[in-house]
Amino acid sequence: MSKPASTPASAARNILTRLHDVMASKASAQQKLNQVVDIIGTALNSEVCSIYLRREGALELFATRGLNQSAVHVTKLALGEGLTGTIAKNVEMLNLDEAAAHPDFQYRPETGEEKFHSFAGVPIVRRERAIGVVCVQHVEPRKYDDVEIEALQTVAMVLSELITNADLVDTEAEAREGRTSTAPENLNGLPLVMGIASGKAVFHQPRITIEHVVAEDIEAERQRVYSAFDKMRMQIDKMASQADFGVGGEHEEVLQTYKMFAYDEGWSRRINEAIDSGLTAEAAIERVQQHTRMRMRQIDDPLLADRMHDLEDLANRLLRIVSGQISTAAQLGLRNDTILIARNLGPAELLEYDRRRLKGVILEEGSLTAHVIIVARALGIPVIGRMQGIRHMVREGDHLLLDAIENSLLIRPSANIIEAFEEKLGQSKARQAVYASMRDEEAVTQDGKRISVMVNAGLRDDVAAISTTGADGIGLFRTEFQFLVSATLPQREKQLRLYRDVIDAAGDKPVIFRTVDIGGDKSLPYMHDDGIAEENPAMGWRALRVALERDGLLKAQARALLEAAGGRTLNVMFPMVSEPWEFDAARDLFESQKVYLADRKKMLPLRIRYGAMLEVPALAEMLDILGPKIDFLSIGTNDLTQFLFAADRAHPKLAERYDWLSPAIMRFIKRVVEGVAPHNVDLAVCGEMGGRRLEALALIGLGVERLSITPAAVGPVKAMIRSLNYAEAVQKMDEMIANPPANMRAELKAWSKKHAELSRS
Ligand code: PEP
Ligand code: MG
Repeated sequence: MSKPASTPASAARNILTRLHDVMASKASAQQKLNQVVDIIGTALNSEVCSIYLRREGALELFATRGLNQSAVHVTKLALGEGLTGTIAKNVEMLNLDEAAAHPDFQYRPETGEEKFHSFAGVPIVRRERAIGVVCVQHVEPRKYDDVEIEALQTVAMVLSELITNADLVDTEAEAREGRTSTAPENLNGLPLVMGIASGKAVFHQPRITIEHVVAEDIEAERQRVYSAFDKMRMQIDKMASQADFGVGGEHEEVLQTYKMFAYDEGWSRRINEAIDSGLTAEAAIERVQQHTRMRMRQIDDPLLADRMHDLEDLANRLLRIVSGQISTAAQLGLRNDTILIARNLGPAELLEYDRRRLKGVILEEGSLTAHVIIVARALGIPVIGRMQGIRHMVREGDHLLLDAIENSLLIRPSANIIEAFEEKLGQSKARQAVYASMRDEEAVTQDGKRISVMVNAGLRDDVAAISTTGADGIGLFRTEFQFLVSATLPQREKQLRLYRDVIDAAGDKPVIFRTVDIGGDKSLPYMHDDGIAEENPAMGWRALRVALERDGLLKAQARALLEAAGGRTLNVMFPMVSEPWEFDAARDLFESQKVYLADRKKMLPLRIRYGAMLEVPALAEMLDILGPKIDFLSIGTNDLTQFLFAADRAHPKLAERYDWLSPAIMRFIKRVVEGVAPHNVDLAVCGEMGGRRLEALALIGLGVERLSITPAAVGPVKAMIRSLNYAEAVQKMDEMIANPPANMRAELKAWSKKHAELSRS
């Protein structure tokens, strides 16, 4: 057999020019396919060229040159059946010098293909799925060379466009038996933020649809790709220069590799060659990417798989730039109630979404301590993570029901299930409405004990929760959120603006700012950790330990807080105080910054109230020393309980092993209540525990008079308080602490049935 043109570009270009004319003609789709097999057969000097398309669950021979014409629309293969079915199933090409030697080979007598030995076929791909196969065969047993395979792959792209435009494949039916099923399904993952939601599936990064494959003007396409490369490289350079990484950090390495790919000459050359062959810029990028994907799949190396992510990322970026298609669904704007689907998200990316329409998030990755999860929790958006492969199971616009409480995601639910779910949502909303209507009612027990119910916050918008819930203020403002959502260390001015806005918005209600609790699991990409890998980050170099050592950070924050509270009261507390001297050092630092600002004639707070968080058990032994120094103490039960039980708070296996309502924790908190009693100290609990009604009841019974909780819990907890008799609760807790029952939770729950309002929210 004589060889086709010698370069992939000219071979493919030759075919493309002729295909272009066929596509532009007024012929029927079937006639066009007939012409296409002739063009390819001639160009590749192949006796046989056939096109199989997926129809009604099978691959059907639609056009052939060289096989018996009577087999057209007669020969049908199931997915995975024979060589053609295997190509479609695996979405991978085959190139064989002896077709019959392949284990998947199947002989179909009606086609008359027995005389042909060699075989090459490539999938016709649309949206990552094979919608057909184009193959060539010839008598002489030899492998097709790279030039020919590349030409065939380019042809497959054009065919994909032709087939879709001509409506030759039934996309609904084809979707039914493909990877993207339309049947209802119920999946589970790892619940990361509790809650339930109903909405339409929206992909964070919508797939780019390539409208045109064959170029009208090759030079123009080349220019488009050149300028897209320029733009992409500029973006990457900017990203690299803005990120203020430490020298030699892991992030720097990642970015350097990314940059190296962006500037890779081989990559741009291959795209250019594809354009030379007659493809549009978009099709050329996709074509090269398909090729790389195929090559990478053959290499089983996890490190390379990571690099493949980088490359995919860059190719997508380039495609978006060149096609001008919007980069994320956030920028496109949400139109319906939405459940967002993403491989992973950064906190800033999540914040770009319209919060009124974003009802839930599904991540393929994700972990409890990921920054995005901390932010989602603050926003009250339910999240389920670790749902691998979800992007292949769900299609844009599918109805989804997300229930993070039951750990279930229902895809394309039936009408009955939607109805039942709507009822569940309705009940939950009705209860929310009841709680909202209690906004102006005070959290007072039946016997007149006023409990202060405050909210935990961390973002500018969270302040609104004070008025929507009627809370008594912000009992914990996690200032590190601003650091976590930012790509670089927030400047002092930026911090100042946020703190001032929060104080302004809170009006006459107090805001307790916690200085940054970073490090450990809340690490910042732009803060390097001196290269020490931490085996126990929760017990590591974090919070006040970092802040006192890197005091530049704390000084900047102190000045921002002091200035923001000029002329008012500043409430500030320090996280993870382990020994009283750490509190002294932090307070001294604030006092020195006060002097600094006073020297510069800045307006200072009228009063500064200093507090500490009690999260490290050792501090409970030192309350006689600490008590006289502080204005308030806030028990962070999230950290405290993990340290008391030596049980990692993020470990899924330990999540339910130890109960908050255990005698040890109850006795410990009681000791703290008694430890601060001789001093003039306001005591609060600000961990998640206080947001659960039974736990809140127990805390109140122990003598805790202030809770700072997640905003969604304010209504339910207030309702519980208003139904409670304080003296009875205190007595019950005293009894249980003195003589712990076998199951404190069960005992308290049974007791609460007669003594408090704890109906499900
Ligand atoms: C806690 O530990 O209880 C707490 C409130 O702080 P964080 O959850 O931010 O560690
Ligand atoms: Mg903590």
